[in-house]
Amino acid sequence: MKLVLLGTGGFLPTDAAQTACYFLPEVGVMLDAGSGTYHLPKYLQYPELDIYLSHAHGDHTSGLVYLFASYLTADYLHGGETLDADNISGFVQRANEALPRTRIHADEKTLAFVQPIHAYLPYQWLPLQAQEPLPNGGVLTHFMMECETVGYRLDWPGHSLAYITDTIARPDSAYLEHIRGVDLLLHECNGPDHLSVLTEHIGHSHLSSALEAAAQAQVKRLVLIHSSPIESLGYSTNLEAVRSIFPNVEIGYDKMEIDF
Ligand SMILES: [Zn+2]
Repeated sequence: MKLVLLGTGGFLPTDAAQTACYFLPEVGVMLDAGSGTYHLPKYLQYPELDIYLSHAHGDHTSGLVYLFASYLTADYLHGGETLDADNISGFVQRANEALPRTRIHADEKTLAFVQPIHAYLPYQWLPLQAQEPLPNGGVLTHFMMECETVGYRLDWPGHSLAYITDTIARPDSAYLEHIRGVDLLLHECNGPDHLSVLTEHIGHSHLSSALEAAAQAQVKRLVLIHSSPIESLGYSTNLEAVRSIFPNVEIGYDKMEIDF
């Protein structure tokens, strides 16, 4: 199963990283819809799109307004037709027809914030169900975390993925049981260890705490996401010093492709 990291930044897009968006092309599932959504057309191959939102903040939802343009651009990239004055109306019509096939799943609180803002767009808005069936025999489950963010776990026979963002990793965090043993964990990390008081104050995890979460949950592979646009919160030069906590760790980057 392939995962493409369309946006690995948090808070504010930068030249280096768009904001939160993670896409599974083979099944048409997207986790969050930040500014990284603009990378979607290149990877879109499934006729349906299911978007699961972790919470309502703009760095996770701003890309919801890009979907019409994304569908049209994907049609142009993959449809084999050149674009001209005679056929532009066909492109527009097909993109408009794709909008109502877009299903956006979120908890009730997130829907209450996000749905009214996008009322002019004909998406389907769906409250999260305890078990969401996924294509190819998969299932998605969710759980609430600290800072009122939803965490996700996606399981297929032989493949599993968990997505943890915008929360504080603690040794006793309840979400650790939900992500136990996954093949791939996307876990947020918003700062180096010496700024752990600050990262906790702003509702985020620091470097060692993210690695400790992965070790405690006995996941197989960890990719750190949701990097800060503020330079002093960067942690790439600190990783080797703490790698022993959880050796199979990488720092995610935009357009990184992962097979799990
Ligand atoms: Zn965020």
